[in-house]
Parts: sequence; C-alpha cells; structure tokens
Amino acid sequence: MSDLQSELRADADLVGILERRGVRTVVLGGSDTHGVMRGKRIPLAQLGRVLEHGLPLCDVFWVMHVDESDLVARPEGHEGYFPTERNGYPDIVAKPDLSTARIVPWHADTVLLLSDWHLPHDGGPVPISPRSVLSRVVERSRTLGYEPVSALELEFYVLREKVGTLHHKRAEDLVPLQEAPSTYGVVLGSHQEGVGALIRDAMLAYDLPVEACNPETGPGQFEINLRYGRSVKAADDAFLFKSAVKEVVGQHDLLATFMAKPASSWAGNSCHLHVSLRDEDDRGAFHDAASPHEISTTMRHFAGGVLSTMAELTALMAPTPNSYRRYVPYSWAGTTATWGIDNRSVGLRAICEGPDGTRLEHRQPGGDANPYIASAALLAGGMHGVEQKIEPPDPVDLDVYALPQGEVPLLPSSLGEALDLLERSEVARDWLGADFVSHYVEMKRAELRAQAVAVTDWEVARYLEPL
Ligand code: GLU
Ligand code: MG
Repeated sequence: MSDLQSELRADADLVGILERRGVRTVVLGGSDTHGVMRGKRIPLAQLGRVLEHGLPLCDVFWVMHVDESDLVARPEGHEGYFPTERNGYPDIVAKPDLSTARIVPWHADTVLLLSDWHLPHDGGPVPISPRSVLSRVVERSRTLGYEPVSALELEFYVLREKVGTLHHKRAEDLVPLQEAPSTYGVVLGSHQEGVGALIRDAMLAYDLPVEACNPETGPGQFEINLRYGRSVKAADDAFLFKSAVKEVVGQHDLLATFMAKPASSWAGNSCHLHVSLRDEDDRGAFHDAASPHEISTTMRHFAGGVLSTMAELTALMAPTPNSYRRYVPYSWAGTTATWGIDNRSVGLRAICEGPDGTRLEHRQPGGDANPYIASAALLAGGMHGVEQKIEPPDPVDLDVYALPQGEVPLLPSSLGEALDLLERSEVARDWLGADFVSHYVEMKRAELRAQAVAVTDWEVARYLEPL
C-alpha cells in the first residue's frame, strides 16, 4: 500500500492530506468504451465539492471514435448508451474512488483519482461504463461464493516517434526503439533498458505492482507483468499502466503503443489475462490436490464456461479490425477454443502451481483490449460455466497451431464475425448487461463502416501500378 493510502486509512480527510503534501492539481479520470482515459483536471480547492457531489461532464465521449474523427460515431441516434429518452448530450457525473488515489510522479504536485461514471442525481452507475460492468460481474461472482483474482501482462512497442509528427507517416516507416528484436535478451535488451528502467521506476512510484519486464519478440517491444489482485483492482492497475506508459515515454519524445499489430512484419501486442477464484475462506478454489493435474471441479467448470463462450465473447477481447491481424499460427496468440496444461499454442493455458498459483491464462486479448471489458468477459464466461457446471473438452497437449484445419474449433477471424456472435450472445447480455452489449456492438459496427471505405497502404502498393 502506498504512503498516501496508509495515511488515508488513518485520517479520512483526503483534501487535508493533499494540502499538507503540497498537491495543487487533481486528475479525475475513468475509462471510456475504448479503454481511453477521459476526465478533467481540477485545482485542489475544488476537490471537497467534487467528493460530495461528483464532477459533471458531457456524456458525448461514449459515442466518440477512438481517434475522435467525425467526433460522434453514431450520428443517427443514441439509444443503448444513455438509458433514458434524453438525446441532448446531457451531463453524467464522475465519482472519484478514494481507494485509487495516487501521486502522479511525472507531473508536479499532482494526484490522480480513478472515477466511476454515474447518471445524474445519482441514478446509479452508467450501465455501459466498463468499470461498472466489471464491478457487477465481480459482485455476482461473490454471490456465488467466489472472489475473482486476475493479473494482466501487457506487451507494447516504444517507437522513436512523437505525437504531432506521426499523422502522415506510413506504417512501414515507423521507427522502433531498437532495429531488431532480442526476446528475453539481457545483453541486447540492455540497449532498451534506459527506457525500460524509466518505465518501471515511474510505474512503481505510481503505486503499480510491476513484477517483471523483458524485451519481447518485436523490435523495441516490451512485456511488463503486473502482480495479481482482486479483479477490479487488477484491471485498474492495467488501465492506469497503459495511460501512464504513454505519458511517461511521451515526455521523452517517444511514443508507446498497445495497438494489437502496429506493423505487418512485427509481432503483435497481447494482454494475456490470468484468472483464478478464491473461496469464502480465501483459499485458491482452482486447486484440488486429489484431482488430475490438481485441477479442481470449479476450475474445470470455469474452463468449460470460458471455452464454450470464447467465440461469442471474442469481440470484447479483440475490439478493432486491427486486433484480428494477430490471429495467425505461431503468433503465440490464442486462435482456437482449446485448453491445455502449460501449452502456449492453445487459447486457454492452464497453469498448475499449487493452492495459490493454479490459474487459467486467456491468450486471446490484445494490448488494445479494454482491461475492464476483457476481464469482465473472461469472468462472465467462466462464472457462467461454474453456475451451469459446464464440462470442458479434454485438454490438448499437442501443438495446436500444427493441427489440420477443422480438428479444433477456430475463433472468429474478423471483427464483423465476432460482433454478429456477440450480438446473439445470451451469456453476454445476462452477465454484462443488454445495454452494454448493444452499445458495444453499435460502436464497433460504426468502426467497421469507417474501415470499409478507407483505402489502405497495402491496396495502393499492390494495385496502383499493375492495374
Ligand atoms: N506477442 C504475442 C501475441 O501477440 C504473445 C507472445 C507471448 O506468448 O508472450 O499474442
Ligand atoms: Mg509475451
């Protein structure tokens, strides 16, 4: 726990504590649908009022494209994102969560508070808000007797590019931090260690539980592992991490990207998602010393639920058309609804490491996934399996990428296909909420419409001269 959080435990007067520490600016931020942090900065003097009443801001950000082109993704109507008849872009309210308060070490005298989005006059959480969707799934898991625990592993590229000089660059001209990859490379990896150390130190000072860091298989690509925690906290950590890495390297005129596949010839960025359940006595509910591989019945059913819903929940793990470029054999991304014991070619890897370490790793989510939505989707599938006692198929101990087509169930290979399945998913509507699912499907279909009319570099390179 950070100094600030320990102080807050002893003395609930956050404003007084921050005054004594010389804080001048408070960032209030939360996640939009894409996983982009939205919010406002306020002077410390305003915080008392905001803690009491919340901070109003326009709800338009729910319908903005990720790059804010055309501003509003669905000019034809709003239903599905604001569950009232009101259509005039009214205010919603940011309600800060005190348990997330932290000093922002790379800005002067600044503190950040993650916020939940609420309807006005405390009509409760905005039903499509990703953090609220995850919180609801966690609450429901608790009513079934389990506390979900997650850990997220994030891969990302650092590029020698600056915001502001990038827009007209072709993808193939991007300059990565290193020319060549050096997977787990300690010596060659040391050439990117200046930036690695900068990121790790800043994240630790920001109270994010960095466990390990290594150069990944792409040029200038990193992987950073965050320690497990209760699922909302783990998603908070990953969400904060992504924004923080961008800000920190941006101050050094570098650009970090979690985009799933920034260049055709580079490895993708994943966000492997580890999960397990604790029982009411805080024991690891996935471990049973008496069962094969020490996998408990609860874990088997959880895996059964994840596997049976993996296709219909794919759009939540892979949110853009670009996300699907990772899904090829030997990319080390999950491409099939399969599981196996410590098998990295399957979609769901079982890791059997005793009472506290036994867990499942979902290998489909990309670095571009919203950590709240991906975590909620994984828990929805798994808890559905626990509730319905779904038996999984046998674990596979072969190289799944090498199997002939049709041998194991493939996952959707395009956003359009994934959205059609998500729209029909009863599990998604039941666990994540009908409002959330319709909003998500609408937003992502708007993204597909934008993509459908875009002429790409690949098309020009391929067709311009010969045709
Ligand atoms: N970069 C790979 C992907 O996009 C994952 C590599 C790994 O196994 O860590 O899925
Ligand atoms: Mg990795």
